[in-house]
Amino acid sequence: MDEETPSLPGHERDVLNLPVLLLNRYFAPVSVATARRALVLLYGGAAQAVSEGGDTYDFSSWLTLPPRGGDDLLPIVGGSVRVPRVLHLTRYERTPRANVRLSRRNLMIRDQFQCQYCARRPSQRDLNLDHVVPRSRGGADTWENLVVSCRSCNLKKGRRTPSEAGMTLLRQPHAPRWSTATQILLLTRKPYEEWDPFLKAG
Ligand SMILES: [Zn+2]
Repeated sequence: MDEETPSLPGHERDVLNLPVLLLNRYFAPVSVATARRALVLLYGGAAQAVSEGGDTYDFSSWLTLPPRGGDDLLPIVGGSVRVPRVLHLTRYERTPRANVRLSRRNLMIRDQFQCQYCARRPSQRDLNLDHVVPRSRGGADTWENLVVSCRSCNLKKGRRTPSEAGMTLLRQPHAPRWSTATQILLLTRKPYEEWDPFLKAG
């Protein structure tokens, strides 16, 4: 629902790019948006800011909240506004289906940093991604055709299928079914404390 990529806390001094957790009307986590997008939603009335105590505020009541130490502040005419960390989308009912991005990192997490042929767990730099059906044979870049493999298994297998190479997969690869909350946790390594209750519930 949000095309902008939020930056991680502490990595970006532009407060408008800080990450804000979005909850649907049932307080289930939906996604992470930038503070810029969050403030537009709050100002436009589509969302309420959620305080650390779990109370919800519309834009004008949020403006009256005194900043706490450690808050990220956005200067506005006549003062400053706290950048909310959790936003409640009061009319948004959906719980979007988890759609996990195919990436090296997510494949590593799915396969638990373990070679899917010999079951060893060498250091990360000795792990490769292996095309089960080799690319040269028409194998695609998909969750079903990519597995984590150690260098030596990768070398041994070469441009062959597992059965041609006499190798067996530990488990059949498929797209992970992580919940939205899990994905948000994976996306942001250091979420705010304010996110905890919602991500744990999800
Ligand atoms: Zn191996």
